[in-house]
Amino acid sequence: MRRRQFLRHTAALAAAAALPLRAATQRSLHVGVAGGGIVGASIAYHLARAGARVTLFDKSQPASGATQNSFAWLNAFVDHPDYRALRLDSLQAYHRLDRSLKLGIVWGGYAAWARTSDEVKVLNEAAAQLKATQFPVRPINAHGLTAMTPGLVTGEVAAAFFSSIDGHLNPVAVTRRFVSAAQSLGARILLNTEIIGLDFAGGALAGVRTAHEPVALDRLVIAGGVDTPALLAMAGFKLRLKHAPGILAHSKPTAIATRLIFDAPGTLSFKQMADGSIVGTDAGAPPDLPVHREIRDHAMAFPSQALAEQHGNRILTKIGNVLPAARGVTLDRLTLGFRPLPTDELPVVGAVPGVTGVHVAVMHSGVTLAPIIGHHMTQEVLSSERVNALAPFRPERFS
Ligand SMILES: Cc1cc2nc3c(=O)[nH]c(=O)nc-3n(C[C@H](O)[C@H](O)[C@H](O)COP(=O)(O)OP(=O)(O)OC[C@H]3O[C@@H](n4cnc5c(N)ncnc54)[C@H](O)[C@@H]3O)c2cc1C
Repeated sequence: MRRRQFLRHTAALAAAAALPLRAATQRSLHVGVAGGGIVGASIAYHLARAGARVTLFDKSQPASGATQNSFAWLNAFVDHPDYRALRLDSLQAYHRLDRSLKLGIVWGGYAAWARTSDEVKVLNEAAAQLKATQFPVRPINAHGLTAMTPGLVTGEVAAAFFSSIDGHLNPVAVTRRFVSAAQSLGARILLNTEIIGLDFAGGALAGVRTAHEPVALDRLVIAGGVDTPALLAMAGFKLRLKHAPGILAHSKPTAIATRLIFDAPGTLSFKQMADGSIVGTDAGAPPDLPVHREIRDHAMAFPSQALAEQHGNRILTKIGNVLPAARGVTLDRLTLGFRPLPTDELPVVGAVPGVTGVHVAVMHSGVTLAPIIGHHMTQEVLSSERVNALAPFRPERFS
């Protein structure tokens, strides 16, 4: 029933999205997008679909920043009601894009269970976040959990719930899909092309300087992930992000055992990708060793392969204790990523104050938000209208 409501809602949003933008008159605008992560790639795709002339710049390759290291759980669990509404809209937009671009999203839902009273408190707080929405979570018991994933070893279950609207995806594949779709709509994709400066004429953007060539632009959208502050500094705007590293263990593919995302007691989160690989994290704070301090304090890769393997195997062993299908799986890789997390943990989206023609889109949960940000950003860039849904997330709050 809820799923049907959700899909009806999705159809309504799809109809709205298909309407031509009022910006049709400005079709010839040349818009640059700085950053080919999932957020920039979605923005480039939506702009190109709306008829803009688009150039996407990435200093490396698509999805080479936070996106490739993301857990990529699509969800609406947040306290802030406007932020939650934005995320719900994005989930709906993903249903439409999943069909049109064949994104391969796994819409399996999300389940969490708790054992201790502290965990139950956290779980109830999360459940309350969706309570007033059209998609409240459903309480379940140990039986319910194993019915959804046979073989799951839950141990004692003090409380548990299931959220049907959540999904997960392959963030690298989806980003590449946005890029190729943008390209087939005429977007120019400049890879290994770092933006090193912005040019202004009378306070308005005139173009960007890259390591190879200058490019004249009418508008620029900065979607540079953790490098966004450096790009914004070129426009004279100061923004700080939190330093928020996170590791993920990825196994080699194994037989499909579940379509859900799970939060198990303790700090274990895991899912199984469409190709059968298990991806998980154990978010507990690492011991306060010098090597961990180094990694925490500087955005750096793991100092040794041995340490990466040790962490990866530790996480996969923990997952195997809960999900028998994961027992004995081989570690493929351990990734260490840095979340583009604004200091108040809300997205920063919109026109950059103090200059004309420069916009920004930086956020954690950028995988969840990419479709709706692409949609709203396109509206704002091409029509100069301010989209109400973005009002709580303006860069002005940091001015
Ligand atoms: C461990 C971890 C787990 C996460 N889990 C989730 C989750 O479950 N759900 C969720 O929704 N989100 C999650 N996130 C957050 C999510 O991954 C990010 O919000 C999202 O990937 C950000 O995408 P982006 O396109 O903004 O940035 P990025 O992916 O970092 O892309 C930025 C791009 O900009 C390029 N760039 C930077 N500077 C320049 C320049 N000067 N010139 C040209 N190009 C430049 C970079 O090369 C990069 O490709 C997680 C993140 C991490 C690290």
